[in-house]
Amino acid sequence: MPESPYPMIPVEQAINIILQEVHPLPPVRVPFTDALGLVLAEDVQAVEPMPPFRAASVDGYAVIAADPTPVRRIAGDQSAGYVDDLKVTSGTAVRVTTGAPVPSGADAVVMVELTEEQDGYVNIRAGVESGSNIRPVGQDLASGQLVLAQGTALGAPEVGLLAMIGKTEVLVHPAPRVGVMSTGDELVEPDISPKPGQIRDANRFSLMGAVREAGGIPVDLGRITDETGTLHETIERGRHLADALLTSGGVSMGQLDLVKPYLAERGKIHFGRVRAKPGKPVTFATLDGVPVFAMPGFPVSALVSFEIYVRPALLKMAGHTHLHRPRRRVALAHDVPHSAGRTEFQRAIVTPNTPGHYTAVTTGFQGSGRLLSMHGANALLVLPYQEGNFPAGTEVEAIITGPMQDFRAQPDG
Ligand code: AMP
Ligand code: MG
Repeated sequence: MPESPYPMIPVEQAINIILQEVHPLPPVRVPFTDALGLVLAEDVQAVEPMPPFRAASVDGYAVIAADPTPVRRIAGDQSAGYVDDLKVTSGTAVRVTTGAPVPSGADAVVMVELTEEQDGYVNIRAGVESGSNIRPVGQDLASGQLVLAQGTALGAPEVGLLAMIGKTEVLVHPAPRVGVMSTGDELVEPDISPKPGQIRDANRFSLMGAVREAGGIPVDLGRITDETGTLHETIERGRHLADALLTSGGVSMGQLDLVKPYLAERGKIHFGRVRAKPGKPVTFATLDGVPVFAMPGFPVSALVSFEIYVRPALLKMAGHTHLHRPRRRVALAHDVPHSAGRTEFQRAIVTPNTPGHYTAVTTGFQGSGRLLSMHGANALLVLPYQEGNFPAGTEVEAIITGPMQDFRAQPDG
């Protein structure tokens, strides 16, 4: 049997090599409404204080707290959104709505629930403390304050903050555009009835989905045959359209596995084999600085390899600094067969049973072609290559890839 010329390197080493080779994409300025999910490439300060004026925080009456008069004459109305020339003096009050500027002279707002109004006068039924129900200028944001630091991933609250401070254009790292192609003479499009010997292309769609879930923009480069000409053409086209390339299939040891030889000739292969199951032949290359991830063709191998190698790389390109999923020690709910020699990533459902304690059940037959073994999984068990079978109860490490059920939500056992 011919031996692969590529040394089999440990998973951690492969990840480190990739993260050394990929870099955050150069920042661009975008409208803040397009910035959701992107990472800030500049510090953002508040130019004005928030609130910008003393604002009533309840509906009620602006008063002088120390005023001894129990029944005060209503001197006018101050609504949110307006500034009227009103002044509160001893013996008077001004009716205000939530968010209204507090009229001069007043140092407190009494909530309407604690008052009775009659014939233009208001009876204040409770004691009033100076400052109550007034949001002072700059209570939420001081003028000049750093609001969002460079490196912040922009979620819903951050987009709201940008709107609040009037920062309508922001410098961000763009989402990486990722070209995705499938290789294989046996592949047909999903809407085709396969002829004998053919199967439908699944990987292009699962990988484009994974790119999107990782915050990237998939660029569909299509499905190509096992033939160097089209491979060459598609990779060159992709290199100009995208910031990174993903191929699937054609990296094993078959006669028609042309991806590795092409990448070796055209660019630089940084590794061509990893001590992992699934995903042993996963290959990482750069072509003129563009990272190329060549994934094995088996649907589970392709998607697990994406999770382990590509996702952190795309996050780094997008400017993120937290690149890795959380990991937990989990107890196996049943025996888990595993042969030593390669680090195995088994798909599992991890559930917290008591606070801080997790149980793992695998998703059944773990064949590399059985994509259904990834459906419903929220974790990858990491079974180290140094050890063999794991009996029920053993604690292993799990990469948490999806939401977990709350332990309180479990039915009583
Ligand atoms: P390869 O890595 O090209 O040797 O392919 C390994 C296995 O995965 C073969 O059984 C292929 O038919 C299958 N395969 C390759 N590419 C795809 C794809 N895009 N979608 C589904 N199965 C695939
Ligand atoms: Mg193939």
